[in-house]
Formats: sequence, structure tokens, C-alpha cells
Amino acid sequence: MKTFCGRANPTTGSMEWLEEGEDYDYHQEIARSRYADMLHDKDRNVKYYQGIRAAVSRVKERGEKAIVLDIGTGTGLLSMMAASAGADFCYAIEVFKPMANAAVKIVEKNGFSDKIKVINKHSTEVTVGPDGDMQCRANILVTELFDTELIGEGALPTYEHAHKYLVQEGCEAVPHRATVYVQLVESRRMWSWKKLFPVHVEAEDGEKVLAPPSEMENCPGLPSVCDIQLNQMPSSDFSTLSDVVKMFSVDFSKPVQSASTCYRVQLEPVKSGKAQIVLSWWDIDMDPSGMINCSMAPYWVKPTSALQWRDHWMQCVYFLPREEPVLQGEKLYLTACRDEYSVWYNLQKARADEEEQKADVCLESPVCRCRAHLLWNRPRFGELNDQSRTRQYIKSLRKVLKTDSVCLCISDGSLLPVLAHYLGAKQVQCMQPSRIDLYHPHELRQAFFKANNLEDKIKIIETRPELLKPSHLEDKKISVLVGEPFFTTSLLPWHNLYFWYARTAVSSHLASNVTVLPQSASLHMMIVEFQDLWRIRSPCGICEGFDVRTMDDMIKDSLNFRESKEAEPHPLWEYPCKSLSEPQEVLTFDFTKTVPQHCLSTEGSVKLLRKGKSHGAVLWMEYHLTADISVSTGLMQLSNEKGNCEWNPHCKQAVYFFSSVIESEILSDPTAVTYDIKFDTKTGEITMDFKL
Ligand code: SAH
Repeated sequence: MKTFCGRANPTTGSMEWLEEGEDYDYHQEIARSRYADMLHDKDRNVKYYQGIRAAVSRVKERGEKAIVLDIGTGTGLLSMMAASAGADFCYAIEVFKPMANAAVKIVEKNGFSDKIKVINKHSTEVTVGPDGDMQCRANILVTELFDTELIGEGALPTYEHAHKYLVQEGCEAVPHRATVYVQLVESRRMWSWKKLFPVHVEAEDGEKVLAPPSEMENCPGLPSVCDIQLNQMPSSDFSTLSDVVKMFSVDFSKPVQSASTCYRVQLEPVKSGKAQIVLSWWDIDMDPSGMINCSMAPYWVKPTSALQWRDHWMQCVYFLPREEPVLQGEKLYLTACRDEYSVWYNLQKARADEEEQKADVCLESPVCRCRAHLLWNRPRFGELNDQSRTRQYIKSLRKVLKTDSVCLCISDGSLLPVLAHYLGAKQVQCMQPSRIDLYHPHELRQAFFKANNLEDKIKIIETRPELLKPSHLEDKKISVLVGEPFFTTSLLPWHNLYFWYARTAVSSHLASNVTVLPQSASLHMMIVEFQDLWRIRSPCGICEGFDVRTMDDMIKDSLNFRESKEAEPHPLWEYPCKSLSEPQEVLTFDFTKTVPQHCLSTEGSVKLLRKGKSHGAVLWMEYHLTADISVSTGLMQLSNEKGNCEWNPHCKQAVYFFSSVIESEILSDPTAVTYDIKFDTKTGEITMDFKL
């Protein structure tokens, strides 16, 4: 079987469909899967085991045989727990073939083959009866089908079907119930992920304010969940306006309905403020009494000692359709609407006429009407709203722009053309190449320019850099070429080097004394010890007494599938780490020149200066806007004493996990890590190798 994988080509900025074999898909899925993270989630595993033991006992006490249905068995872990707890038989269903195969091996290795039947099907395809997959309906239903939003992986339709066709009435369910909690907050930081704030520019002729178009102001945004490691959000970045409230519960031991529905709770703000965001998380009770509880509550809700780090379940940030000023003690209603797979929120002020109230509730899931939410993801909104970053760009534009400047901006959805115009460039035009065929970004731009009376001031060039003609530029040469650089198709930090390729493609249109801003970029690298992120790629060995090394080996194979391991993007503000080496500049890219034909490569070694475990290397880009103004998309600050790092909150950095961890101990004679990093100018990709 052949698979086509979409990938942006960083040398052309456009999407390409690459034909890959079946193996590719499978290895990607395993290598980047959350199985390792789940197996390391001690809190989850212990509580599932307790819940399963209790459910098997209850069934046995009734004098029945314990027949278990485990939907989404993965490694077979929960079925093995059930078999160990004395279940008579387990049906372990797994839809993903490589995992079902792994489950068969793991079950056999642990000696449970006679008690557990692995069925490689989607649960809705499973049959019951003498000739069916299952001999009879089960009386214990075990699953772990939840994502951060609880229902995003299809738990509800799966449960609905299982209750109709696969389990007995009155069955025991582990987990027994899930409850979704919410808290209303005000947060400029989180609100800046949904809305564009006005940008203030000190121009020659007074202050200019760049305002977003009205469509954007009232746009409900996107239905996709915003899931983050809320425990990394400092309490100074938000203010809670309500207590924590139970929004809704699902009892998994009874028939479950997946059809769309709404839930409403009454709230009284504990303080006055601007209601913008609903923070949400859930917990699961493994047993009916609620004694075995596994909770995703963030640090300010539960004691830090009870916090289990995990990446497969985090917390959700929901954006209210619009900001609502609320008063302490006033009566409010918060409504959660959901369909089969997602949840969204609305807030209403209580009114005497309750019926009218209900009619107000928007049942439709949020759909972006302004296009900005399609072009810019949430971190990009945050970046555009980052005033100190904007100030750096303004400062550097001021240095390079003259009244006769002919300026071309190449970047996706950038504010630079407007800034360049306000700062006095004579002629400004812009190109946003990487999304040309996708989201009609030009319509958004036009709306933007119109809202600010700039339609006839800034010209949008609807073509790709390689197709640029003198007529697009009114037969003028470009004297200032600018870019952030930012392209929506970039996955890894160096993919934004597409700016360099675009600059190369427009070379013949540049004036001989052209200024390119940024003038150069550099790739930086640092060796780190992660507080927790290492878990997602680290072998587990024995999990709650079960040997899962088959899974470890499978993940290792998949990570090594391509000869050179790849770096992966992670937003490190969510994943604390400690630096073990000095940050080091490893490659530079000179935008004043064209992309060279040959590869750029570097070799060297870096000393481990602090005691700790080297889990991997972090890489990021810095852009040198002018000789003395730079912006970093990675490290912002490093505390030298402990090695604590502060990362750019809007960008993902590249993480290269070492295949084995080294522990540095002796600081008088520091260990060195050698590296070999190569930028292939033909592909725009960076490959690397580290030796410890
Ligand atoms: N039970 C394991 C793995 C949980 S991950 C554990 O707790 O460690 C969830 C797994 O369920 C994934 O492997 C996914 O492929 C599978 N899955 C999800 N929905 C399913 C369904 N309806 N039928 C069969 N498998 C399903």
C-alpha cells in the first residue's frame, strides 16, 4: 500500500505530496505516539489497576464470571491488569494493526494468552455470538479512549455502541464516570492567542494605530481544542474570576448518548473583570464511590505533591466568543455545547426571562469567518501581539527605511508592510507565498488594509517569488527587502529559511545597494536535561509488573527508521529544562547573499558544564534584523546559576533526543559532546549527529 504524505518544501514554500510506503505511516505513528508517555504515567496506571481490581471483585461477589471488554487495548496493559485481578476472560480490541500485533506479543510474553483474546478491529465492527469475535456480552467495560478534551478521540460514540451491542445491562465500567470542570478567567496572555490587539506605531506624522477589521473582532475562531500544559502558566498571567465548577459528567456504566447537547451552570464571579477564557480539565472516578480518582486539575486547584506530569492529557483553553465584562456576585450562566467530538462555551448574563435566554445559546460550533484564524494559529496570534517583538521590528525598520525606499515584504500574514508604510517607505508591496493556494490570505489582507484605509497604499502581489516580474514592481528595483521570517507551512525552526530561498528567487529585482532585513540568521544549539519531556521517548521496561519491552523496542525501531534521526518541534515554554552546556551558535545564513549551491556544515564539540542527564539538544533560530538588533525564536534568557531557561513563548524549538542519556558528574574535567550538523541547501533540511 502506498501512502501520500503532505509536507511543505522549505526551499519552495509550497506543499508537496510525497509518496511513502506503508512502513512510513506506521513508523511515524509509533515513533510520535503517546504510548510511552501513557506507560510512564504512574498515577494513571496505578488507579486503573485499583479500579479494575475493584470491578472484578464486585462481579465475583455477585457470583458471576468476570468477562472483560477492553476497547483500545494498545499494549494490552489494562487487559493484563484485569486477567491478573482474576477476570475469567478478556476481549482486547485494538483498531491499529501494528499495536494489535504488539499486544499479542506482549500478552504472550506475560503469560496471559489463554485469558486474553486480542481482536484487531474497530470496536463498532466487533460481533457477539457463538461464531462471533466475542462469545457473549461482557460484564466489565474497560477503556482509555480519552484525550485532553475528554471526548476528542471519539469516546462517546464508542461507548454508545458498546452499550448497545457489546456489554450487558448493569455492567461495571472502569472508569466509572468522568467529570468536566471549568473556571472562568481573565488573561491578556491567553486572549492574545485569539484576538489581534491594536498595534501602536510612533510615525513621523504622529501616532498611528493599526486596528484589526471588524469581521475579526467578532469572529468566533476555530472549533479545534487549544490544549496546553497549564501547569507552566504562571499565576501572574491570568486572574480567576470564578470558582472551579462542575460542568458535566458522563456515567460510563450506563448507556451513553453521543448526540449533540448543551449543559448549563450558574456562576457568580468571585471578582469583577473581563471574562475571556474558560479553563477546563476533567477527572475520572475509577469506581462508583469516587474513592479512586485520577485528576487533571492544575497546580492552583490541587496540591503540587499530587501532580503527575503527563503529555497525553493536559488542560484545555476555550475562548469565549467575545470578551464580557462581569461584576463580582452577579448571576451568570455558562453553557457548554458539545457534538460527538468537541466542546465549546458561551457565557450569558442572567435575565428574568429564562426561556429567551435558552434561545440565545449558540448551538453551532465556532467557525472562523474572518480567515485570520485559518491563516494564523494561536501561537502566531500571540507572536503578532507581542509588543516588545514589534518594537524590535519598528526600531530596525526605522534604521533601514528612507523616504524613497521601495520595499517588498515576503512573509505570511505579516504586519511588516503596514509598519513599513507608517514609517515612511515610498512604495510598499507584499507577498505571502506559502499559503497562496490554500486560504485566500489576500482577502484577509485586503480586509485588513481596508479597515485601516491602506488599500491604495500597500500593494499585494499575488504571485510566487520565482514568478515575480518587473511590472509587479512598477518597473522599480527593490531597495529594502523585509521578512519576519514567518511561513505557516514551517514545522521546524529552520524551515523559515524559505525567506532566503525567496530572496534568492527575486535577486534580479533587487537594487545593487539593497538592504535585506533580517540581514542574517543563525542556528543555535544547547544540550539540556528535561524535567519531564524525556518520558515521551524513553523506554518503560516493566509497567505495574507487566513486561512491555516489546513496545519499547517497537518505538526504538520506529525512531531509527530513517538513517538519521530527525529533530522534532516542541514549544519549550511548556516543557521546562535545564541547560547543561553554554548555548552555541553553530551555523549562520547570510541573507545579503543568495543561497549557495553547496551544503553548509559544521562540526565541533560542546562541553557539559553542569551536573545532570543529557537528554538531547535543543536548536533554534535567531534573526539579525540589523547589525545590532536581533530576535530569538528560542532561548530568551538563561540563569547561569542553575541553568534554568526561558524560551520564546510563541515558537516551537527543535528537540533532538539522544538515543542514550549520559550523566555528567565530574565538573573539573567536563564531558564533551561532539556534533556534526549539516544544512542541505538543496532540500532546506538540517540533519545532525551527536556523539557522547
Ligand atoms: N489501553 C491502553 C492504550 C490506550 S490508547 C492503555 O491504557 O495503555 C487508546 C488506543 O485505543 C489506541 O491504541 C487506539 O488505536 C485505540 N482505539 C481507539 N478507539 C478505538 C475503537 N473504537 N476500537 C478499537 N480501538 C480503538
